[in-house]
Amino acid sequence: MSLNTSLLKQQVYIDGAWLDADSGKTIEVTNPATGEVIGTVPFCGRAETAQAIAAAQAAFPGWKALTAEARANYMHKLCDAIMEHLDDLAVLLTSEMGKPFAEAKGEITLGVKYIRFFAEEGKRIYGDTIPSPWADRRIVVTKEPVGVVGSITPWNFPNSMIARKLGAALGSGCTMVMKPAEFTPFSALVYGVMAEKAGLPKGVINIVTGDAPAIGEEMCENPALRKITFTGSTRVGKLLASNAGKHMKKISMELGGNAPFIVFDDADLDRAVEGAIASKFRNSGQTCVCANRIYVQAEVYDAFAQKLKAAVAAELKVGNGLQEGTTQGPLINEAAVDKVAAHVKDALEKGGQLLAGGNRPEGPGTFFEPTLITGATQEMAVAHEETFGPLAALFRFETEQEAIRLANDTQYGLACYFYSKDLGRCFRVMEQLQYGLVGVNEGVITTEVAPFGGFKESGIGNEGSKYGFDDYLNVKYNCIGGL
Ligand code: ADP
Repeated sequence: MSLNTSLLKQQVYIDGAWLDADSGKTIEVTNPATGEVIGTVPFCGRAETAQAIAAAQAAFPGWKALTAEARANYMHKLCDAIMEHLDDLAVLLTSEMGKPFAEAKGEITLGVKYIRFFAEEGKRIYGDTIPSPWADRRIVVTKEPVGVVGSITPWNFPNSMIARKLGAALGSGCTMVMKPAEFTPFSALVYGVMAEKAGLPKGVINIVTGDAPAIGEEMCENPALRKITFTGSTRVGKLLASNAGKHMKKISMELGGNAPFIVFDDADLDRAVEGAIASKFRNSGQTCVCANRIYVQAEVYDAFAQKLKAAVAAELKVGNGLQEGTTQGPLINEAAVDKVAAHVKDALEKGGQLLAGGNRPEGPGTFFEPTLITGATQEMAVAHEETFGPLAALFRFETEQEAIRLANDTQYGLACYFYSKDLGRCFRVMEQLQYGLVGVNEGVITTEVAPFGGFKESGIGNEGSKYGFDDYLNVKYNCIGGL
């Protein structure tokens, strides 16, 4: 499998044109599996972002005025173009991000599902009529797109994180300026190519790459941009939310997580192991919904640990994502490897036992072995910080209440998982976990038809489902009098 260079766009996409940064500066993008440079993208700042916002603002009235069906037709054409190039796009994604080719295809396909969902859901943006307290007036509530949306996205799902936002924006009648992560800009820039293939009006989608703080500031401060949608770290999310707040912009924030994965003593252990492998090691542990703390009840602790160890050995294979059979690609960069290594070291120093992995393999690329540590405790860094890598730490607990208390003992509240066959326990635990997403006897639960959003410091708002439109729409109360 080789990279189709016609899809490797090394310029930004503004108002239907491919451009360089005003300064002529660029940033290099490398393949984390090999360390080789794939290409460069423009290092844009505020001026180019302002230009992109102006283009999106100019395109907004025309896009908004289309019927929902006409917008949906464009969106489906965009999806058709993406699916036509699925293999090439997946090679591109794997080359810049590292995840296995099959996962890259899965991600792009899921992205398309989000866009198609919102294309159709756009036909159901209903308003209300409210019984009027006045005999001579009527009350009609309508919903309108907010306008230009700015999107800032991370590298771990370089296609689908954009698709979720783009689908909601375009389906509701908004236009967009997107800024992808510096590590994975090509999977974003290719949306420009697909927009051209689909014949989207110019300015509806604009893509800028470069100086993240400068682009973020322009998005927050430029009055023409009305909403910021962000997926990334809680640190940057807070920065953007506070800056956007100063300018009274709508925001949606999908931030960090620290997902607990609880195995009760009445669980189907094989199913729990399957879920733990999927939840912990998908994308080499680099998802915001990855299990970060695995709590296992004392009675089944040893049995679960042994089964998980066997599954790690049998099912996980580290390698270049473009090689057949690879399930564990590289981590995104050196800093990511250092963080996993630090969490492993800290856990072992504080009494944890290494059951599998623990090392960085020899050779090029930023790889780390799938790692299993037993005897984990709340004193360890892995209990409180998101590892964002392939480290599964197993904590022991005794009672249901203890598990719930430990699971909730974090400032995060994105995803959590638990396994039990007791129906009463399932409801009790489900209702007490302070998380936006709860997997009961399931380890991977993301779908475009369900809401995805965090509690506490994991964010504000939801993506996907009918709720995913909320922050892209203004509610308007029309009072019709003099009847
Ligand atoms: P991660 O830890 O997943 O890399 P970040 O929050 O650092 O998460 O990055 C997510 C996105 O936020 C990326 O597109 C990155 O370029 C962008 N970003 C980082 N710092 C800022 C900032 N100060 N303002 C706006 N965007 C930023």
